Amino acid sequence: RAIIELSDVSKSYATSGHIAMPLCGITASVPQGAFITITGPSGTGKSTLFRLLTRLEEPDKGRIVYQGKPLSDWNPPELRRNLHYVFQVPILFPGTVADNLDYPTKIRGGKLEKQEMQKLLDRVSLPRDYLSRNVGELSGGEKQRVNIARSLSLAPDVLLLDEPTSALDKKTTEHIEQEIRNYHAKGHTILWITHSPEQATRLGNIQWHLEGGRLKERTIK
Ligand code: ADP
Ligand code: ADP
Repeated sequence: RAIIELSDVSKSYATSGHIAMPLCGITASVPQGAFITITGPSGTGKSTLFRLLTRLEEPDKGRIVYQGKPLSDWNPPELRRNLHYVFQVPILFPGTVADNLDYPTKIRGGKLEKQEMQKLLDRVSLPRDYLSRNVGELSGGEKQRVNIARSLSLAPDVLLLDEPTSALDKKTTEHIEQEIRNYHAKGHTILWITHSPEQATRLGNIQWHLEGGRLKERTIK
């Protein structure tokens, strides 16, 4: 069963005299529970695809359906709770790590217990005492780990990851990969953009390669 279906989706941008056409008539579907890795040269529309899926932008043409319902019928906040975009550059607000981890739950009227926040830190291999650290003092890689932990706190059905490990060292990368695999094993659907063909093959069961506006699909396992 497909959780996401794209039919003939196009998106272009007009910029200072020329037109960039990152996506040109893309048709593809994401099976429920798939782990899709997305590769392609820089500037080929990988992030654009994620922005379309989360309705940060609208396609010029074509149709996207999530859970059997056209994307245009979803209200964006509800959609983004289910289909969550982990931006490549972590967007944290000033405050402590705990403030940031708690935020998605808090704005939905809930509260994360300290123990739950500590478990989220364990999952991204950050020390538990980081809860009280100010995010302004963290390194880029640590910010990315807080960013991922915060996304996991919402337990979205579909996780969209935009080169999540590109700024991380090998050990942390392995840890994050394992965490996302565990998340996938629980039945969640993963879309992961990577610049590494090796990582794409290692992690994915389906690979989407974007180039020249087109999408080529390959079954890995
Ligand atoms: P990728 O994630 O594969 O590196 P992007 O999806 O970020 O690529 O961008 C695809 C193309 O669209 C690039 O040529 C980029 O310059 C262009 N583009 C993306 N966003 C905009 C925008 N808001 N305005 C103009 N051009 C854009
Ligand atoms: P909500 O998603 O319920 O609106 P958030 O705190 O997650 O609340 O996001 C606030 C706003 O920031 C969103 O409405 C959206 O514009 C942007 N945003 C944050 N996280 C995401 C995400 N993962 N995907 C897309 N947009 C996001």
